[in-house]
Amino acid sequence: MLLLVDLDGVVYRATEPVPGVPEALSARAAAGDDVVYVTNNAMHYHTDYVPRLLAHGAPVGPDRVVTSARASAIYMRDHMKRVRRVLVVGAAGLEREMGEAGFDVVSASYAATRMAQEGIDGWAAAGEPDAVVVGLDPQLTYLKVAAAADCVRAGAVLVATNKDPMYPTERGFRPGAGSVVAAIEVASRTESRVTIGKPGPLLLEVGAELVGADLRRAVMIGDAMTDVQAGKAVGARTVLILTGVTTRAMADELPEPERPTRVAEDGAALGRILDELAEA
Ligand SMILES: [Mg+2]
Repeated sequence: MLLLVDLDGVVYRATEPVPGVPEALSARAAAGDDVVYVTNNAMHYHTDYVPRLLAHGAPVGPDRVVTSARASAIYMRDHMKRVRRVLVVGAAGLEREMGEAGFDVVSASYAATRMAQEGIDGWAAAGEPDAVVVGLDPQLTYLKVAAAADCVRAGAVLVATNKDPMYPTERGFRPGAGSVVAAIEVASRTESRVTIGKPGPLLLEVGAELVGADLRRAVMIGDAMTDVQAGKAVGARTVLILTGVTTRAMADELPEPERPTRVAEDGAALGRILDELAEA
């Protein structure tokens, strides 16, 4: 069975592992399951997660983490054959993923600097890119939005790594990638062509393809309704775990079509449920 596992609120919360979850995943990996981590976070390079997951005792290898940044790069490489040059509005991890997929990457900060110094528009400053890919950019500036909007108005394809409106931090909620995408969509009067992250199916599809696993035998494990929605979108079974953003009361109030296959109270319950699903 393929286990597609969300990270924040499932495997860990901030710096602490969620009790019982790494153990449950390790037991299933030992039983032969494929474990692939799928996160909407587009800021980090995928292997950056490996030491952290290993420290928590979770089963992981360098190829077993699929962020919406990595999935965007793989999706664009495989499905947007005419795209060569890409303007990246996002953090260093997104730039690195795009570069490794073979794209000619131009950073929004470079384009914004050229716009300011040379008095040219964003399309020229970015070297006429074929696509604009957008993630959460903690160093976002007005001119970066301007550069991206210029490129989209000139015909570059707009790709959203994800559309999460907010991003949880230890100091409360901050604007997420979706807020950055929205600014560029409004400024260019153009909707993004594709969104890779959850709640849509593409992030999970890329994750399953990487290990050659069948999504019909997959279980999506997450703490948010977007995880359940993404799982349903690919026809997988879903486990909603109540160790993150969703409470028991919220889970109980879900209308029938939105309900997950199972609800796990904690890591121990997750282990039991996964063993049952493997037998089903
Ligand atoms: Mg989560």
